[in-house]
Amino acid sequence: MRVYIRAWCLAAVAAGFSLLPAGPALASGKQSVAVGAGGAVASDTVPATEAGLAVLRRGGTAADAAVAVASTLGVTDPYVAGIGGGGYFVYYDARTRRVYTLDGRETAPAAVPANLFIDPSTGRPLSFPTAVTSGLSVGVPGTLATWQRALNRWGSFGLAEDLGPAVQVAKNGFAVNATLREQTRENAARFAQFSSTSKLFLPAGGLPRIGSILRNPDLAHTYEQIARHGIGAFYGGAIGDDIVRTVHQLPLAPGATLVPRPGSLSLADLRAYSALDRAPTHVRYRGVDVYSIAPSSSGGSTVGEALNILGNFNLARESRVQALYHYLEASRLAFADRNRYVGDPRFVNVPLSRLLSQPFARQRACLINPTQALASPVAPGDPFALAGGCVPPQPVAVRVGQEGLNTNHFVVADGIGDVVSYTNTIEELGGSGLVVPGRGFLLNNELTDFDFVPSQGTAPDPNLAAAGKRPRSSMSPTIVLRNGRPLLAVGSPGGASIITTVLQILVNRFDFGMSLPAAIAAPRASQRNAASTQAEPAFLNLPTTPGLQSLGERFVINDTSPLDPTITISPQIGAANGLEFLGRGRIEAAGEPERRGGTAAAVLDPGR
Ligand code: GLU
Repeated sequence: MRVYIRAWCLAAVAAGFSLLPAGPALASGKQSVAVGAGGAVASDTVPATEAGLAVLRRGGTAADAAVAVASTLGVTDPYVAGIGGGGYFVYYDARTRRVYTLDGRETAPAAVPANLFIDPSTGRPLSFPTAVTSGLSVGVPGTLATWQRALNRWGSFGLAEDLGPAVQVAKNGFAVNATLREQTRENAARFAQFSSTSKLFLPAGGLPRIGSILRNPDLAHTYEQIARHGIGAFYGGAIGDDIVRTVHQLPLAPGATLVPRPGSLSLADLRAYSALDRAPTHVRYRGVDVYSIAPSSSGGSTVGEALNILGNFNLARESRVQALYHYLEASRLAFADRNRYVGDPRFVNVPLSRLLSQPFARQRACLINPTQALASPVAPGDPFALAGGCVPPQPVAVRVGQEGLNTNHFVVADGIGDVVSYTNTIEELGGSGLVVPGRGFLLNNELTDFDFVPSQGTAPDPNLAAAGKRPRSSMSPTIVLRNGRPLLAVGSPGGASIITTVLQILVNRFDFGMSLPAAIAAPRASQRNAASTQAEPAFLNLPTTPGLQSLGERFVINDTSPLDPTITISPQIGAANGLEFLGRGRIEAAGEPERRGGTAAAVLDPGR
C-alpha cells in the first residue's frame, strides 16, 4: 500500500503537484467540529488544516500531512510555532499498531553555563521579560529535525513535497484575523525593538489590519532552500549561519530602547542537534491506554501520575463538586512531584516508572483530605519509598515556576489509521522576539523554561540549565487506545497549564461522559501546586465553584501578560485540538469553539 502510494506520489510531484496551492478553502468555512471518514485534521488555522487535507488527499500519511500542517502554521500562526522552535511528536503507526514518540525539544548550546539567567553585575536572576527577549534564551531549534525524522520513519513523501502548501501560503499570503492582530498588540512594544521583526509583523509601523493580507516571502524562500538542500541548510548551512548571527548580533531597530543580551548559540550546536526517538509514557485509565511524551517533557509523567491518583476514586459516581475537587487535588500533588523529579533524562535520573506506578499513586492519593484542600506548595512524595503508609512528607520551601502560555497543538489522522498528536512551540508568544533577518521566522526563547535559580529548597532541582540540556517542558501530546486501536488524540498549548488542560479533557471525556467537543469546550481550571488555582471566568460561574471554595479551593483569573503586567491578555486556558475515532472508520475532529478565536477542524470525506 505504502509502496504504491509512494510511487504514485513521486509521479505526482514530478508532475508539479508540490507547487499546487493547499487546496480549495474548507467548504464549510472555519468550524471547530467535523465528522466523517478518510482522514482528519484539527489545527489552529484554516490554511494549516487545508494544507494537511491537501497532502492527505494526495495519498500522504498522517506524518506527511503533519509536516504540511506544522510548516503552514509557521506562516499563519507565526508567534507560537515554526522552524525556530521545538516540540514533541506522538505517532500511532497503524502497521505496527504501536505508539511512538519523537523529542524535538530545543537544546541549550554547548557554551551555556548553569547560571545562564543570573545577571553577573548583580548576582541576581534576570527578570523574566529581560531573559525572554534576548539571545540568551534561544535554544537550538528542534522542529525541522523532528519533521525530517518523522518523514524518515513514517512518511510517504519527502520534505520538499510536504513543505509545498506552506510555501504557497507564505507567497500568496493569508488574511490577518482578530487573533493574530491581538497577539501582535501584546507584543508590539518588543517587536518594535528589532528591525527584522517589525518589518515583518508591524507593517507600516503599526498593527496589521484585520482582513489585510500578510505575506512572508522570506519564509517561502527559506522553506524552498530547505526543500532543495535538505535540513543541512539549517543545521549547519547558510540558514544556520544567519541564525547564529542573529543570536550574537541582535538586529536592533534604529532608536531601540532595549539592550538585549546576546546568546552563545553556534553553528556547531546546530550541527550537533538531533530529534530523539523515545518510548512513550503509558498509563491505564478507566479501561483505556493513555500514551504521551516522556521526559524531557513533564507532560506524560504528570498527566499520567494525576490519572493514576484519580484512579483511586470513582469520579463518575461522585458529586460533580467532589469529582472536580479530586481533579484539582490530584493535579496539585502531581505537580509537586513533577517539579522535584522531572528534567532532561540525559542529565537527571528521572524515576519515571516509579512516578507512574500504582503504589506511588496510592501513596499520593491518600494525602487528599476529603474536606479541606491541601495547602500549596505541597511537598513532593518519595517514589523510592513505596511501602510507606499515608504519611505526609515534610513540607519544603519550593518555588512555583513562571512559564509561558502559548504554543499550538494539532492532530491528524490518515485513511489507513495512522494518527499524529503534535505539540510545537517557540515558547512565549512571539518567542525571543527575534526574527532571523531575511529568513521570515522567529527564534524561540525555550531556555527560559529552565528554572533560573534552584526551586526545591535543599533538594536538587532537576531543571537547572546546563550545556546540551533540554529544558523541562509541559507539552502533553496524547494518544489514547482502546483494545489496541486509536480512540482519541488530544493536546493543547498553555505552558504548564497544558498538563491540566489535557488532564481535564480526559476526565471530562472518560469520567463525566462528555463528548470530545464538549470536553474541549468546557470551562477550565488549572491547579499547579500553587496557593490559588488558575481559572477561566466561565469556570468561576459554574454552579460547582462555591462547593469547591467551601472545600478550601481558591481561584485566580490570570489576565495580564507575563512580559508586561500593564498589558491585558485573554484569561483563557489552552486551545486544544483533538480527534475521536467513532468506529467503522468514522472520525470526529474537535477543536476549540471560541478560545484563541476558535480552531479549524475538518475531515477528508464529510459525507460518511
Ligand atoms: N514552553 C512551554 C513548554 O514547553 C510551551 C509554551 C507554552 O505553551 O506556553 O511547556
